[in-house]
Amino acid sequence: MLSVVPAPVIVRAPSKVNLHLAVGDLRPDGYHDLHTVFQALSLYDEVSVVGADKLSVHVSGADAGAVPTDSTNLAWRAAELLAERAGRAPEVAITIAKGIPVAGGMAGGSADAAATLVALDALWGLGASRDELDGFAAQLGSDVPFCLHGGTALGTGRGERLVPVLTRGTFHWVLALAKGGLSTPVVFRELDRLRESGDPHRVGDSDDVLSALASGDPHELAPLLGNDLQAAALSLDPKLRRTLRAGIDAGALAGLVSGSGPTCAFLVADHHAAVTVSAELAGAGVCRTVRVASGPVPGARVVADTDTA
Ligand code: ATP
Repeated sequence: MLSVVPAPVIVRAPSKVNLHLAVGDLRPDGYHDLHTVFQALSLYDEVSVVGADKLSVHVSGADAGAVPTDSTNLAWRAAELLAERAGRAPEVAITIAKGIPVAGGMAGGSADAAATLVALDALWGLGASRDELDGFAAQLGSDVPFCLHGGTALGTGRGERLVPVLTRGTFHWVLALAKGGLSTPVVFRELDRLRESGDPHRVGDSDDVLSALASGDPHELAPLLGNDLQAAALSLDPKLRRTLRAGIDAGALAGLVSGSGPTCAFLVADHHAAVTVSAELAGAGVCRTVRVASGPVPGARVVADTDTA
């Protein structure tokens, strides 16, 4: 008798760097208003889903040990949310191959949630509209809608209200991945503390960043990169100053802490410079590992939907 092997759906989702991140003051409800320009980068997680008896999450990759495999995993929550709306049981095995650093300020968990939504929509043949997927994404976390869309976008609210940004060409990045992670809520609290006791530098508006992106010139963009969370990340992990300095010494045009850190992102002139800077940075011993990436790239997309019988 012919036995049918269930076909997995595989989705790749990008990481992000915030080119500009302005954080408003702490609101009475405990949140901060954000005004940010995101770019999706070619450092990916790959999420594979296949029908199973019950919901499970398996994680592979260098950082796998730091990722929960229970209902606190964002991919698990995405599966439960979509299943509930589809009126079916979330009976799927989810496998996550992590290429994005965990708790690295590059939206790794959000990428997995976005990838799971796209993968299960395809596996279950739901045909959900963009708007519906956006709605689910926003419920799962403020960076999830961006991981779904990718490209370059201006995010407001908590980062979930997106407007696409016009860019020309490709920007090249070198990423210095740190040994540990930084918790996003802890970094926000540290920024609040720094603001109570002084006045750390605040980035201005993003108009010049948007013009530089439209020009496609990394030399124009480099001096405009800025992140209000950087002071807090550096305060919690002062070693990052050395990492940032080493990237500039290695020939990067600019460097900044990515989101809540501790990953440091360096903008370089072109792919050739990315290779040179990454080699030099790797040799400087100021980070766990170095990756080369480019952006903008598309959001979560099906890369394989094989019918294996
Ligand atoms: P962001 O940049 O969106 O603030 P981040 O990239 O700094 O997030 P994540 O990699 O998303 O951080 O992980 C933050 C925490 O979320 C982890 O420490 C982990 O406990 C938890 N988590 C839940 N699901 C996932 C997942 N699928 N991948 C990674 N971490 C996850």
